[in-house]
Amino acid sequence: MGAGPAALCITAELVQQGLEVQAIASKSPLEPWPNTYGIWASELESLNMQELLKYRWNDTVSFFGDGFGKSGDTCTSHYLDYGLFNLNNFQEALFKRCNGLSWQVETVKNINFREKETVVICASGKEYLARVVIDASGHNTPFVKRPKKENIAKQAAYGVVGKFSSPPVKKNRFVLMDFRSSHLNSTQRKESPSFLYAMDLGDGRYFVEETSLACSPPVSFELLKSRLNLRLSHKGIQIEEIMHEEHCLFPMNLPLPFRNQPLLAFGGSASMVHPASGYLVGSLLRRAPSLAKEIAKAIKNDPSMNTSKIARIGWNTLWTTELVQRHRLYQFGLQRLMSFDEELLRSFFDTFFKLPRNDWYGYLTNTLPLPRLFIVMLKLFSIASSKVRLGMIGLVIRKR
Ligand SMILES: Cc1cc2nc3c(=O)[nH]c(=O)nc-3n(C[C@H](O)[C@H](O)[C@H](O)COP(=O)(O)OP(=O)(O)OC[C@H]3O[C@@H](n4cnc5c(N)ncnc54)[C@H](O)[C@@H]3O)c2cc1C
Repeated sequence: MGAGPAALCITAELVQQGLEVQAIASKSPLEPWPNTYGIWASELESLNMQELLKYRWNDTVSFFGDGFGKSGDTCTSHYLDYGLFNLNNFQEALFKRCNGLSWQVETVKNINFREKETVVICASGKEYLARVVIDASGHNTPFVKRPKKENIAKQAAYGVVGKFSSPPVKKNRFVLMDFRSSHLNSTQRKESPSFLYAMDLGDGRYFVEETSLACSPPVSFELLKSRLNLRLSHKGIQIEEIMHEEHCLFPMNLPLPFRNQPLLAFGGSASMVHPASGYLVGSLLRRAPSLAKEIAKAIKNDPSMNTSKIARIGWNTLWTTELVQRHRLYQFGLQRLMSFDEELLRSFFDTFFKLPRNDWYGYLTNTLPLPRLFIVMLKLFSIASSKVRLGMIGLVIRKR
């Protein structure tokens, strides 16, 4: 179910395993995806997919100063390439791996589970039967069961691709996080922090996006838009032409789904978004092959295996005990970050990016084995200032 990046990634792998797949989504898989997807280039290089990038920057930086004066404007270099996907090519490459499979353009309204099959009921009234169903219909799926949680934190961002009266970022540069806040007054600085994510797209076009990492309730688009305008006007920059506007809102700390349910999931619906960064695509590409392989093995080895058992094998492959533990640590980290005020957050990230590159990269991409992740978190604690340390152990509460 679905035709976003998660659905295409897992469908391609299931088809490659020789399984008989039926795909259903409200939108055709050929309809262009609405979001811009960014990723560290090394994540794609490790999968030999780097040619899917449309843009690639090696001048990748962040700003963690307050923006007042020389030292407040100090720039931190990441020394690691970042890129934006060529969405057409990415979508097409995944689609091609589905070997001509055609999607039913239908909206799923209900799912019924029987012992040996699942019945998917669509808005049109049509019903489809399958040995096992994978819900890749995004973060808001009503079908995947998970523990109830109040106050889900959401990442929110408002961005513009456009032309500006003068460059909002240096030529050929990618800015991961610009936390400078000298354009805000003291009251505004006490509100939920946000940063600028920005890049030079060439031909006089730039993408600038005001982003709130995670907040519950989420920071409103109106506030993010006004902060972006304030940030730009403070530098004497006007937006001359808006070519595309991006409104970004998705949950960062959705609880993990129950692993004993007969419905499998993949992508946003399976809580696969990295709770500390909001990234998902790299993890889809890394995790789809093993999930497809295990499902294929189960179905081929035991043609009479019941649905719940196939789903259970899928869940245990997708969310191994190791990945569940790592997820808990990330969730804990995010919870702490959300209690930080703007100054403490700047100081935290400044310290975080002082870690050796392999450590912070591994943390952000969820590629460190659990023991290493522990060590990196301890290392971070040991090099942090006493105020950041107090924040990390929950002894600093944000003043409002
Ligand atoms: C604006 C934005 C920018 C983002 N940027 C990045 C980024 O740079 N890098 C990154 O890694 N992550 C990013 N993310 C996070 C994450 O990668 C995206 O949310 C991603 O789109 C989630 O993929 P998905 O396939 O799980 O769900 P979706 O992309 O939401 O796709 C869901 C699919 O299911 C279909 N569907 C929904 N309901 C039904 C139904 N009832 N029946 C049938 N079909 C249904 C939809 O039509 C759609 O095809 C971003 C998210 C947003 C919102």
